[in-house]
Amino acid sequence: MIPKVQLPGSRSMITLAVRHREFLSPGFANVTLGGPAVRELVVAGNDQAVRLFFPRDGQTGLRMPTLSNEAWIAQLLLAPKAVRPWVRNLTIRRVRPADDELDIEFAVHGDSPLSSWVRRAEPGDPAGIFDIGTTYRRPGHARGQLLIGDETALPAILSILEGTPPGLATEVYLEVAARADIRPGPTPAGARIHWLSRDDEDLRPGTLAVAAVRDAHLPPSPFYTWVAGESRLATTVRRHLVNDRGVPKRDISFIGYWRLGRSAPG
Ligand SMILES: Cc1cc2nc3c(=O)[nH]c(=O)nc-3n(C[C@H](O)[C@H](O)[C@H](O)COP(=O)(O)OP(=O)(O)OC[C@H]3O[C@@H](n4cnc5c(N)ncnc54)[C@H](O)[C@@H]3O)c2cc1C
Repeated sequence: MIPKVQLPGSRSMITLAVRHREFLSPGFANVTLGGPAVRELVVAGNDQAVRLFFPRDGQTGLRMPTLSNEAWIAQLLLAPKAVRPWVRNLTIRRVRPADDELDIEFAVHGDSPLSSWVRRAEPGDPAGIFDIGTTYRRPGHARGQLLIGDETALPAILSILEGTPPGLATEVYLEVAARADIRPGPTPAGARIHWLSRDDEDLRPGTLAVAAVRDAHLPPSPFYTWVAGESRLATTVRRHLVNDRGVPKRDISFIGYWRLGRSAPG
């Protein structure tokens, strides 16, 4: 049985500042965060995720939790809204230790707290991170892998592909909001990326990825599956693989990154 989460190697609240923000396509922005505190992060690669703290509209500074154990959540929620930052989950796309910098890529949508912050982010703006570890846990017996996600899982999937050994049979189903968000990704020998674009605001995120996996030619068994994105996408894919394709549950990691119609807590 694969442990669900590889716990992080660093457990410190890390305060950084925005160095650069750039739109990569209409629906994606990269924000570079930097500062000497980047050295406190133990880099794990793959889908390494963090809690990202950022000021609410109108707040001039960032008040980070001071506790680095799980009690930080209570500390944050008990703080008055006037000083409490927003907190959301994000993936570390890449780290440049020599420059004390890291990149985070955002699927920008609507006027949510995170998307609004990304749009107004400017060099010098404060932001903080707290490592929460990785869930990509490919077992040694896997002869191939299946990676599935919507746009929120794109940064994780591209990072996983960068760490994938050449020759491992890899099928990737990556759904994005619009054709313009498709971009060349790392393609190790043996990997095939199947891009899917919704191009329809009324289509529920994850719909195309689920349909594609139902028709998919799967990698040779035994293979490992990592699926993340809108909650229904993750659970539906897992159910299909287990019930209809006979894939052992232990070889699947599935993570609901967000829920349609629900704001992330915090
Ligand atoms: C471990 C982990 C890693 C993640 N990594 C990334 C990452 O690298 N990049 C990234 O962009 N996201 C990532 N996410 C997803 C991100 O945390 C959520 O999408 C988050 O809810 C966005 O916050 P928000 O303030 O934009 O919206 P919220 O305030 O949480 O929600 C407001 C409304 O927007 C909807 N919503 C939320 N996200 C989306 C979306 N992407 N598209 C359309 N509607 C949405 C909600 O259903 C709700 O109705 C990750 C999530 C997890 C758990």
